Amino acid sequence: MNRYDYIMVGSGIAGLYTALLAIEHGSVLILTKGSIDDCNTRYAQGGIAAAMGKDDSPELHFRDTIAAGDGLCDPEAVRILVDEAADCIADLIKFGVPFDTLNGEITLTREAAHSVPRIMHAGGDATGEHIEVTLSRRVRSSAINVLEDCLASEILVHNGKVSGVRYLDCRTGSVEECGCRFLILATGGVGRLFKYTTNSDVVTGDGIALAFEAGAEISDIEFFQFHPSVLRLPGVAPFLISEAVRGEGGILRNVEGRRFMPDYVAEAELAPRDIVARSVVYEMKKTHSDRVFLDVTDLPPRLLTTRFPHIYRFCRDHGLDITKGLIPVAPAGHYLMGGVKVNSWGETNVGGLFAVGETACTGVHGANRLASNSLLESVVFSKRLVRRTGSVVASSENRQPSASSNLCSLPQREPSSSVPPLNLPNLQSLMWDRVGIVRSGEELEQAASVLAAWQSCLPQPSDRPSYELYNLILSARLMTEAALLREESRGAHFRTDFPRALPEWQRHIVFRKDATNESPA
Ligand SMILES: Cc1cc2nc3c(=O)[nH]c(=O)nc-3n(C[C@H](O)[C@H](O)[C@H](O)COP(=O)(O)OP(=O)(O)OC[C@H]3O[C@@H](n4cnc5c(N)ncnc54)[C@H](O)[C@@H]3O)c2cc1C
Repeated sequence: MNRYDYIMVGSGIAGLYTALLAIEHGSVLILTKGSIDDCNTRYAQGGIAAAMGKDDSPELHFRDTIAAGDGLCDPEAVRILVDEAADCIADLIKFGVPFDTLNGEITLTREAAHSVPRIMHAGGDATGEHIEVTLSRRVRSSAINVLEDCLASEILVHNGKVSGVRYLDCRTGSVEECGCRFLILATGGVGRLFKYTTNSDVVTGDGIALAFEAGAEISDIEFFQFHPSVLRLPGVAPFLISEAVRGEGGILRNVEGRRFMPDYVAEAELAPRDIVARSVVYEMKKTHSDRVFLDVTDLPPRLLTTRFPHIYRFCRDHGLDITKGLIPVAPAGHYLMGGVKVNSWGETNVGGLFAVGETACTGVHGANRLASNSLLESVVFSKRLVRRTGSVVASSENRQPSASSNLCSLPQREPSSSVPPLNLPNLQSLMWDRVGIVRSGEELEQAASVLAAWQSCLPQPSDRPSYELYNLILSARLMTEAALLREESRGAHFRTDFPRALPEWQRHIVFRKDATNESPA
């Protein structure tokens, strides 16, 4: 069996950036289940947040992030995020990411719930693509080994510590094993759980399911962000219309042409995402429509074509000139705030197992992510992970991270007797309809028993689609059970039967496979 110091699972920003730093300390393998550039990172449009502007400061960025997180951010983690941002941005620039500049200065834009312009972008609205392609090119020309079309299917644990990973070679169907000192999950979120989603089809909760099965803790998984403005054109796959478009002055109108956001909240179009997404849902209901419109026709056409060239071209290629016509939009699944629980060094409670990027729950997002903080979180905590493990390699130190108290297990449920056939579209519809933007106890209960029934009849996975379905069902169960437990509304989690935030719920729901409680103490 081959053995490496580091094995990275995933090749988005978190996997690639970690690998590029880790190669300075030991041997590195990246396993990725598609091609190297298949990931969510490449779709990121708006950019990456960092307090670099002259009117900005880490303190201001800290305050905005804490406010968006609605009482559940870990202040220590947020402090790290904002203080260590500039150092990681410098790395990205050194690796060659071409951030947009004007007169030699990086240009910054503003997004919802940021108090000042602080979002750095590349290629206008093609930030993620530039980051992904720049880093993957670097990786290819380094000593890092990359195995594409290889899906990690099981974490190998020996005496409570990770010893390696089992993976499926999707091209040949063979199952292989590889040993390592540090296994790093950088597998992204769970966006494919929902019928309407902005996410790449590789984003199927694999890291969460793998970690849970290996005994790691999963925290805050009920908090999933829905993006308010995703293109809704018949026959066209959901395509994100970046928040930065509203940041530049885009206005939301209902199907009758009336601006509606000021009716709901003073910040109007620049309110936090959960509020905008729910307002859009209510407005669609009121007007019996499946969409609203984003109006940018008052903005200078030159601003639109230069600042948002990708969005402009995509819409134009589908018959819509956004400088003249309204953009039909509706909410869609977007980003997972919770995930595999880690400390500020990326360590899970399982020795040798780490998580970074969207699959990790560092505590920086709390109940709601501030726009453009996720790319930043990926690099800041990846760098810390490499600092920690690099010193372990040098000293042969063997640390054992501590476990949480008040853990929950997945409850046993009587599976529903009559359930729809289990397939991906049915799972995605169930999650969209029952565990989506507006939730209720009754609908969550219904979803929970269907999911339990589906899980009880899942065959042993054998190929990529069956592994992905297995991982999605497990992630869906964790999300639904957590949403049921959380009898309040906070951040992105909204329940009609408990519409307010409650002080007694200012705490986290953490699942672990071998926990003895079914609900948090
Ligand atoms: C449309 C869109 C726009 C966005 N815009 C922004 C933005 O402007 N700013 C911002 O900060 N954030 C944005 N985000 C969020 C951000 O892009 C993601 O949170 C971030 O890119 C996640 O990076 P990652 O490396 O953790 O995961 P990803 O980039 O999703 O990569 C996951 C990787 O894991 C691999 N993988 C998964 N499972 C397995 C397995 N079992 N075995 C092997 N490999 C596996 C995948 O193939 C992939 O390579 C956006 C997201 C989307 C979808």
